[in-house]
Amino acid sequence: MKTRQLYGEDMVYILDAKSVGNLGRYFNHSCSPNIFVQNVFYDTHDLRFPWVAFFAFKLIKAGTELTWNYNYEVGSVPGKKLPCYCGSTECNGRLL
Ligand SMILES: [Zn+2]
Repeated sequence: MKTRQLYGEDMVYILDAKSVGNLGRYFNHSCSPNIFVQNVFYDTHDLRFPWVAFFAFKLIKAGTELTWNYNYEVGSVPGKKLPCYCGSTECNGRLL
């Protein structure tokens, strides 16, 4: 779901799958993900309106949870600490 908000004189479009979206909105984070996200353009070349596509890093066995790295930057939100519980042996310990 795309919404738009006004910030100053520029329109900013925010992608928010909190209430509407497809299966991809249920993919969880992992510090050792098996899929990655890529912006793709097929119905417009307007950089403000990409479609978000997920691709596998490798062959994924049926029944395996699909996870991707949210790529949040630890320390980017002042006063916010979000621990990571992905369970990976390579877990960074924090999302934020
Ligand atoms: Zn983790």
